[in-house]
Amino acid sequence: MKSAVLLESYLKALRLPAFLREYGQAARQCGEEGLGYEEYLEALAGAEISSREGRAAARRIRQAGFPSAKELSDFDFAAAPGLNKTRVLELAGCDFVRRRENVVLLGPPGVGKTHLATALGREACRRGMRVRFFTAASLVTAYLEAREERQVQRLDAALRKQDLIVIDELGYIPFSPSGSQHLFGFFSQCYERSSVALTTNLPFSEWPQLFGGDERLAGALLDRLTHKVHIIDIQSDSYRLRASLRRREGGGATQ
Ligand code: ADP
Ligand code: MG
Repeated sequence: MKSAVLLESYLKALRLPAFLREYGQAARQCGEEGLGYEEYLEALAGAEISSREGRAAARRIRQAGFPSAKELSDFDFAAAPGLNKTRVLELAGCDFVRRRENVVLLGPPGVGKTHLATALGREACRRGMRVRFFTAASLVTAYLEAREERQVQRLDAALRKQDLIVIDELGYIPFSPSGSQHLFGFFSQCYERSSVALTTNLPFSEWPQLFGGDERLAGALLDRLTHKVHIIDIQSDSYRLRASLRRREGGGATQ
């Protein structure tokens, strides 16, 4: 018993919480299975590594600022018949982030663009990547605020450290000239350095109107975004709308 007290204080000092939690149970199990000292140590070290990775992934997910905990496993592909499931699952492996490629999720409101962008971002966090989630409007606001505080370089530097930046809802609100310039600067600095996963309801041909009709700026920005891009076109009916109709119908049937 005395040795357990000493052992536990060592494990605490060494910051090995999984060892501490599991050493007794692992010892019993190794005894039952006739496993040796090395296997015992390996099992504990493995438990420590996976619990450390789990904590790090949870921290990255927290820091990313996702709007929800939506996962790919919550996504009903049968409800989005036009969507190429194989391509989405391949993207979830996050090699596109390693290759610094971009993803554009294109489609009308309510079809699951934000859901999928969030799910891809969470997968990237689990694979050890640094991710930030913005709406297009919140990214522009972040730049405008940074400019007022003379912190644009700092914001740029923080964004450069990310592996993947999700930009949600491009196309709902047009940008002011300075907002447009900041977005252009953002896409220029991401180019081949960080991946961008962007959701939009606007086909590329309509992007100039987002930037006050500035065709050259929209063109140059699209050039950078689409140089290496996976376009996921989701042209189904609104899932949100269908779900609320179903609820209403369901409600009616029980009356
Ligand atoms: P969008 O960003 O395209 O407007 P969202 O991703 O916000 O759409 O989707 C609206 C709601 O419907 C969310 O709660 C989302 O989780 C849900 N949703 C959309 N498509 C699906 C789907 N195929 N399977 C499960 N949930 C879906
Ligand atoms: Mg959305």
